[in-house]
Amino acid sequence: MAYIKGDERQNVCFLCDARDAPPTDDESKLVLVRGTSGLVILNLYPYNTGHLMVAPYRHVGELDELTHAETDEIWSLTRRSVAAHRATTAPQGFNIGINLGEVAGAGVPGHLHVHVVPRWGGDTNFMPVTADTRVLPEMLVDTYRTLRPALEATS
Ligand SMILES: [Zn+2]
Repeated sequence: MAYIKGDERQNVCFLCDARDAPPTDDESKLVLVRGTSGLVILNLYPYNTGHLMVAPYRHVGELDELTHAETDEIWSLTRRSVAAHRATTAPQGFNIGINLGEVAGAGVPGHLHVHVVPRWGGDTNFMPVTADTRVLPEMLVDTYRTLRPALEATS
């Protein structure tokens, strides 16, 4: 199912799709938190366990297209995501970044998103960082159910 869903997501922006879905679909859409102008969503194709993304609600692809309010909230949601991970999964480090534009590796170049990838020593030994890596949907649900309350507890 994950494969099929992933393919479908190529045609529709999955961030807009998640934004427009009713909150009752948050778990199936992997939406962790909905803010005023942005959301936090788990990556269906994680580079590592707990890989999540922070995105504005608006479908804009460039950092300089964001309003000040969106910029503030995205940074705040990124900070909260780090705090939620620290409180639950105890990472030893993080890779946090934005790929701006297709040439820079953006998978969805039209809709900006901040990647938050928790890291543990030796993590590439058990979760190879390759394009072909897939995690079981059950693992994603476990991660979702761990992180969601932790994120709600942050401010
Ligand atoms: Zn979009």
